[in-house]
Amino acid sequence: MFEQLINKFSGIFKKLRSKGKLNEQDVDAILKELRMVLLESDVHYRVVKDLIAQVKERAVGKEVLESVTPGEMVIKILWDEIRKVLGGNVSSLETGGAMPVLIMLVGLQGSGKTTTLGKLAVRLKNQGLFPLAISTDTRRPAAKEQLAILCHNSGIDFYDDTKALTPLQMIQSAILHSREKSYDLIFIDTAGRLHVEEELLAELKEVVDTIPLKEILLVLDATTGQEAVKVAQSFKEWVNPTGLILSKVDTDARGGAVLSIVAQTGWPVKFAGVGEKVDQLEVFHPDRMASRIMG
Ligand code: GDP
Repeated sequence: MFEQLINKFSGIFKKLRSKGKLNEQDVDAILKELRMVLLESDVHYRVVKDLIAQVKERAVGKEVLESVTPGEMVIKILWDEIRKVLGGNVSSLETGGAMPVLIMLVGLQGSGKTTTLGKLAVRLKNQGLFPLAISTDTRRPAAKEQLAILCHNSGIDFYDDTKALTPLQMIQSAILHSREKSYDLIFIDTAGRLHVEEELLAELKEVVDTIPLKEILLVLDATTGQEAVKVAQSFKEWVNPTGLILSKVDTDARGGAVLSIVAQTGWPVKFAGVGEKVDQLEVFHPDRMASRIMG
């Protein structure tokens, strides 16, 4: 993942490290190269502009220019600024409160919602919780079937009520079932569409306005870059998600999409999907992700 950024950064860092001293012109030249690399790697120009401005402000200070290892210091500043763009601190999943805790996943079809739900449920089960999974996609039996199979293969309980005709009815039925069986959490998979459609968002809004959900997690396909940012804006208007999960980060070869999406939405990223398998979900650590992006 991030091969392109890592390769290009590595050339710049080598040059930086080989310089004994830096003056302001050197820093400017390096920042120009960094700017190019970020733009070529799919980072939105506004994000690049702000990031470079932050690095510049800190890198032309006396402390850096007069240091014996100015190159190292500039690299450290860049890392720190990327970490900040990625959200700074870890944002954890909220799982406390009255049982069952409800966690709903939303996003476009193909974004990785169902796969991510399976990964999350397994993760929490491994932490000792007792999760239940449901799908509110009352129109696409194949979507329910996909979740049912995934749950079956991963040892997660799946619940369906064929009498439930709407997402709301499905969730209400699952809550009753859950109380009987003492589940800690219900993971709710929702219908997706190939594009943002108001009908779908209105349906989700009805759920959000009626049922107290602990988390509404928007799953975004990291490889779709700017498109993902637009999707996030639409979902925000209707359902105001509590956080993001970036899927398919492992296939983001250019490497800039994650930076762009996080910077432009400004939302906490809770997890990153790094593969198709059920254990390939990582807590999103801005500092570790910054280190990864920089190679
Ligand atoms: P949904 O329509 O939003 O429920 O999306 P799915 O969960 O069906 O996922 C769509 C495709 O993306 C499937 O082929 C998944 O295996 C794949 N996928 C999901 N998450 C990841 C990920 O983190 N990495 C990779 N490489 N593939 C993923």
